[in-house]
Amino acid sequence: MNSSAINHYAAAIRDAILAHEADIECLDREIGDGDHYINMKRGCEAITGLADELSTLSSADALNKIGMKLLSTIGGASGPLFASFFMSMSKTLKTSDTMTTLQISLAFEAGVQAIMQRGKAQAGEKTMLDVLIPVATAFKQLAEQGQSSKDIAAALKTIASDGLESTRNMLATKGRASGLGERAIGHLDAGAKSCQVMIDTICDLVLSKQ
Ligand code: ADP
Ligand code: MG
Repeated sequence: MNSSAINHYAAAIRDAILAHEADIECLDREIGDGDHYINMKRGCEAITGLADELSTLSSADALNKIGMKLLSTIGGASGPLFASFFMSMSKTLKTSDTMTTLQISLAFEAGVQAIMQRGKAQAGEKTMLDVLIPVATAFKQLAEQGQSSKDIAAALKTIASDGLESTRNMLATKGRASGLGERAIGHLDAGAKSCQVMIDTICDLVLSKQ
């Protein structure tokens, strides 16, 4: 994964988020304040706007730059959470010279842990973490077993969708939906949806590689 791959992934993620406007928007309107789609769109466009600058950087520096940009553009609860993910991923990648699938999985795991720390949240609280935690766990396990990138991508697509679906019957104990109590039950979490869309997009790119 070099910075041109990062730019390629970022453009695909922006297109996928734009294509899911209706569902993401509707989910945050049902149990949030309705701004999650706009926040995601703003963040995606800010990152694709950095493409020229990112292409001159190492992957680790590009990921750090993405984190800093998201911190200043997304806003809402999700901005600082996504920012910590990328900054922490960058820090972990800086400590290794090569970039194997296992190292990427360890950086992803560190990114998810940074979100947990910053948001003071765990699995089961009806947030983006209900997609990210199971994906991080499986990614690392499958990479440790030496599975191919394509097999890992195929498995993670299913795990991300299952994680998203798991938020439906959860009570929200973090974020804006936490004030709704039982009324949040039956609805998917918007941040979990965005994460599932982003993970699905990257996995599809990995699966379509020659
Ligand atoms: P805001 O909640 O400020 O309106 P967004 O609408 O952009 O921000 O993002 C909401 C999403 O952020 C939620 O759907 C949830 O997935 C995620 N989220 C909110 N609070 C937390 C938290 N403490 N930890 C992890 N994720 C969180
Ligand atoms: Mg919101």
